[in-house]
Amino acid sequence: MKFATKTIHAGQEADQTTGAIMTPIYQTSTYIQKSPGDHKGYEYSRTGNPTRTALEKNLAALENGKYGLCFGSGLAAIDSIIKLLNPGDEVISTNDLYGGTYRIFTKIFAQYGIKFHFVGMDKLDDIKKIINKKTKMLWAETPTNPMLNIIDISKIAAIAKKHNLISVVDNTFATPFLQKPLDLGADIVMHSLTKYMGGHSDVVMGAAICKEKEIAEKLYFIQNSSGAIPGPMDAFLILRGIKTLHLRMERHCENAKEIATFLNNHSKVDKVYWPGLTSHVNHNVAKEQMEDFGGMVSFNLKGNNLKDAIKIVSNTHYFTLAESLGGVESLCGHPASMTHAAIPKIEREKTGVVDSLIRLSVGIEDVSDLISDLEKALKIV
Ligand SMILES: *Cc1c(COP(=O)(O)O)cnc(C)c1O
Repeated sequence: MKFATKTIHAGQEADQTTGAIMTPIYQTSTYIQKSPGDHKGYEYSRTGNPTRTALEKNLAALENGKYGLCFGSGLAAIDSIIKLLNPGDEVISTNDLYGGTYRIFTKIFAQYGIKFHFVGMDKLDDIKKIINKKTKMLWAETPTNPMLNIIDISKIAAIAKKHNLISVVDNTFATPFLQKPLDLGADIVMHSLTKYMGGHSDVVMGAAICKEKEIAEKLYFIQNSSGAIPGPMDAFLILRGIKTLHLRMERHCENAKEIATFLNNHSKVDKVYWPGLTSHVNHNVAKEQMEDFGGMVSFNLKGNNLKDAIKIVSNTHYFTLAESLGGVESLCGHPASMTHAAIPKIEREKTGVVDSLIRLSVGIEDVSDLISDLEKALKIV
C-alpha cells in the first residue's frame, strides 16, 4: 500500500456487524467475557480499545513500523519512552528542543536520577564525546523547534547502534509524509498527534511507533501500567484527520515555501529559518532525508527588538497568536515569551531563540492572504 492509500485505509476496515464504513467510536470501558478469559481480545479499555487499535495500526503502517501505541498526549508518550530507562542512566538529547520535552526531562525525570545532556546534534563529534557507559538513549527532534535545525537521522541511528543505545526521533514537525525515521535506522518514533497528524487543532494526543518486539512489549507494559491512554472519541478524530494528511502536508509545504521566500526578501527581516532555503545550514541533509521541507518557518528581526516582535504577533489577522502548530489554520508564536519561556534566557539564546524570533505554523489558507497579512504586520514596526 502506498502512503496516500495507507492514510485512508491502513488499520481500518468496515465494521463487521453493521457495515459502517468509518471506524466506530467504541465508547466502552469494559467488554463481556463468556467465561473468565473468553473474550474477543479486549478486556478493559486502558489495556486496549478497538478505536484506538485502528489508529495504532494506522500509525504503525504510516511510519513503516510494526507496533504503534497511542497516549493521552505527546508528553505522555515521552513519559512512557523515558520510563524504559533506570535511575543512573543517561540520555543525550537535541539542545534545540520542544519546551515541554525539556521540562519533563529536567524537572521530572532528573529527580528520578536520569541524567540528560543537551547538545547540538548536527555536530556528531559532540555526541560521541559525551557517550559513556551510562548512556542509554539518544533523543533527537528534527526539524527542531523553533529553529528548524535538521539532524541527520541515519547518522544518529548509526551512533546509537554502535554504542547499543536506543535512538528516539520526535517526528512531530515532519510527520511520516516527509520523513520516516524507522527506515533511517531509528528505534522509536515519537509524535505529538496534536499537531499535523490530527491537523485540525481539536485533539491532544501522542504516539510511539517501533519495529522491535522487545521495545514494543516494554512500551505496552508501561502504557497499560502508567495508564496515560487516549479516549476512543479522540482516537477517532485523529484517524479522521490522518485521512487528509498527505494533501494537507503538500499545501503546508507549498505555502511555507512562498512565505519563507517573501520573508527572506523583506527589509526588516534578519534571518529566515526554513530547511528548504539553500541558505539553511543543513539544507543538504534536509534534501536527503525529507520529501519536502515542512510548514514551519521561523524568522527574526533586524535590531532584535522584543517589543517589535510582540507587536507583529499581536497584529496579524490570519496568523492567530497561539501555542501549538500543525493545524489547517495559520498560527504565529513568540517562542521567547511563550513555548520556550521555561528555558533560561542564556540557554535559549545559545540555540538561536533570540528576543525577536517569531515562529509561524503556516496553514493551508490561500497563500496570498497569508502574505498580505504578514506584510501589514511588518509595516507597523
Ligand atoms: C507539541 C509537541 C510535543 C508535546 O506534545 P503534546 O501533545 O502537546 O503533549 C512534543 N514534541 C513536539 C515537537 C511538539 O511540537
